[in-house]
Amino acid sequence: MTARAEAPTAEGAELLSVEATSGRDYRRAAALPEGDPRPFSVRLVDVPLVSSDRTYPLHALTVDVEDWYQSCVDYEAPISGRVVRNVDRVLGILDECGVKGTFFVQGKVAEAFPGLVRALVDEGHEVGAHGYSHRPLFAMNARELRDELAQAKQTVEDAAGTPVTAFRAQDFSILARNLWALETLAETGFEIDSSIFPMRSRNYGIPNWRLDPHYVEADGFRILEVPVAISSFGPVRIPVAGGGYFRLLPFSVIRSGLRSIGAAGRPAIVYCHPYEFNPDELASYPAVSRKLRYSQGIGRGAFSTRITTLLRTFTFGTMAEVLKTWGLP
Ligand SMILES: [Zn+2]
Repeated sequence: MTARAEAPTAEGAELLSVEATSGRDYRRAAALPEGDPRPFSVRLVDVPLVSSDRTYPLHALTVDVEDWYQSCVDYEAPISGRVVRNVDRVLGILDECGVKGTFFVQGKVAEAFPGLVRALVDEGHEVGAHGYSHRPLFAMNARELRDELAQAKQTVEDAAGTPVTAFRAQDFSILARNLWALETLAETGFEIDSSIFPMRSRNYGIPNWRLDPHYVEADGFRILEVPVAISSFGPVRIPVAGGGYFRLLPFSVIRSGLRSIGAAGRPAIVYCHPYEFNPDELASYPAVSRKLRYSQGIGRGAFSTRITTLLRTFTFGTMAEVLKTWGLP
């Protein structure tokens, strides 16, 4: 079977296609934004998943720690103290439910508020990196990408005081046309990546990418890819991991989606952002357009309740704990 997929265009980057053979072997030619094409292909390798003990967390709660205005509206804006207050809200809910989570912290946030990162570590949560600038990775050339990833790792490690080996790209910006970013991640010292959204979405995603944790490898590098939760019913894929769908779909759909993922023998990786726990945040930005305010704000009022219910319905933990539960190193 050969699947052909097109990735969305971005300024300065060429539109490329992915050829998937047997759903496993992705071959393509990647073109750098600066126009320096190079052949690049990867192999997707099975990881046997065995959940021997059902009392340990089967699903992971991950939080992309960023400041809404800087990450979504203006990359040049300073990081505001809102991110600290919003993370406090998340921690309150996690404490209430007795759950530890994985926090992918943006480098600029770690730089501005190192105490926040240190507190996460001290409280037993896992810390990973969420880029540095929040600019999309697919718009970067090789040198810019290397600098971005190295800076992301360094700033979060400096604040955390521990090694950081897990990564989530800003806005899932590893697409078909910049898969070589995985090689750069491995070269930078990351071992686990959770950046590929395994279905087509409006702004990101790779259609038909595999849904379970697997190794992505090529000559000279290997990285463990852990996609976020997508439930599948035959050829139909439903995103139940986070974002707008997660806020808007009836809770029963999210619940049965996560159940079906567990029943299919793989962990569900859920993601959220600290600002989603604050229904009043967007009111602080009167200059933001009504359309953006609506799309970003919808569903935030009930978000905390929804997450609390979810954490009480399933066994959740950090991504590291969950991977261990499923037999991964
Ligand atoms: Zn982000």
